[in-house]
Amino acid sequence: MSKKRHITIVGGGQSGLQLGCGLLGHGYDVHIVQNRTAEEIRSGKVLSSQCMFDIALQNERDLGLNFWEKECPTVDSINFCVPAPDGSGKAIDWNGKLDRPAQSVDQRLKVPAWMAEFERRGGRLTIVEAGIDDLERFTRESDLVIVAAGKGDIAKLFERDAEKSPFDKPQRALALTYVTGMTPRPGHSGVCFNLIPTVGEYFVFPALTVSGPCEIMVFEGIPGGPMDCWKDVKTPQEHLATSKRILDTFLPWEAERCRDIALTDDNGILSGAFAPTVRKPVGRLPSGALVLGMADAVCLNDPITGQGSNNASKSARVYMDAILAHGDRPFDAAFMQATFDSYWSYAQYVVGWTNALLQPPPPHVLNIMGSAQAYPELARRIANGFDQPTDLFPWFAVPEEADAYLAKLAA
Ligand SMILES: Cc1cc2nc3c(=O)[nH]c(=O)nc-3n(C[C@H](O)[C@H](O)[C@H](O)COP(=O)(O)OP(=O)(O)OC[C@H]3O[C@@H](n4cnc5c(N)ncnc54)[C@H](O)[C@@H]3O)c2cc1C
Repeated sequence: MSKKRHITIVGGGQSGLQLGCGLLGHGYDVHIVQNRTAEEIRSGKVLSSQCMFDIALQNERDLGLNFWEKECPTVDSINFCVPAPDGSGKAIDWNGKLDRPAQSVDQRLKVPAWMAEFERRGGRLTIVEAGIDDLERFTRESDLVIVAAGKGDIAKLFERDAEKSPFDKPQRALALTYVTGMTPRPGHSGVCFNLIPTVGEYFVFPALTVSGPCEIMVFEGIPGGPMDCWKDVKTPQEHLATSKRILDTFLPWEAERCRDIALTDDNGILSGAFAPTVRKPVGRLPSGALVLGMADAVCLNDPITGQGSNNASKSARVYMDAILAHGDRPFDAAFMQATFDSYWSYAQYVVGWTNALLQPPPPHVLNIMGSAQAYPELARRIANGFDQPTDLFPWFAVPEEADAYLAKLAA
């Protein structure tokens, strides 16, 4: 690179800060625009359950951003349960070990620390809610403007890609409850994932929050069903009571672990809903200038597969490699489209898998998830699919491939 190139990133979350810190290490001049101060983020509500698997964590390690690796509890497996329809216990119950552990660091801890680290490494951080006029100005000042604003409204400047977005409404009523005092899973830790047919999903795993280790409870209620019940919840204690009531009603083995739980803090709760949406990655401003979308801003998934932060890390990696490889050439529409396409060649599988799990499972998926109880090798493969979802294809998606794979395991 003959002259120092200037990149502006709007949105300092998982993907924006990771990319910003990475580019600083390669001599780029980087400006990150963030709409909330570190203190506002740290003292605000939780944002995510942010469980990240090894490949995504490795991207952070490669950039020296893995500050919490030693103190953050590990997630060592995926445990999958389906309650029996007659209420007699578990119809399906298996555990698949992860080859390498996952970890979840509360974004209220991670984002403020990464903001400080970004500035320490020489980046420029501005706190402002960026609007279209700001983007226009950034395009005049910078060689490239990337919008990594997550679910922020500004992402709507990117046109929704109807072909890649099968849903136009939220598919789950979401809630998070951060707690202490939960009885650990016996043996090794895990994401304990429970699928309650026609009601929704509940999963729970250990994490690190602002006050130390905790467990994060994630509720995914099918709209209109009994787990879509957060709208009238007014206080943090009501939120905790609702969380416990759902487990008492549908998942007694999980309720049993929760006899002595307490909220980590009054902000350790969240509820809401959004429609999974893929957008066209090249945004055109009124002046005709172009901006490039990254991570959730252009590829927003339901949290059911816990992939959003993983995707954000992986897309930041792909975008950084593309920027470095591009050298001094202009960051034009062709560059922007090709960079997203390179990410999409991976992300399409995550989107396909995640959207499939939001639908009632077809017979071949029921067969796979049931058979994992008999075949530890299959359980292990599904578990590690959370780290590398491409390994779930084509056999998870295509009934004939599923049958052939299961027949091979049986033999
Ligand atoms: C309930 C729930 C549970 C989840 N659980 C998991 C999980 O277990 N595993 C997982 O991998 N993912 C999970 N996710 C998803 C994950 O948190 C996100 O996908 C990830 O944080 C996206 O990263 P990002 O960089 O695209 O955006 P974000 O991390 O959201 O960062 C965007 C940033 O841009 C800022 N911003 C927005 N608008 C503007 C603006 N106009 N100007 C300036 N700044 C702006 C925001 O304040 C924010 O700081 C979950 C999400 C939810 C909602």
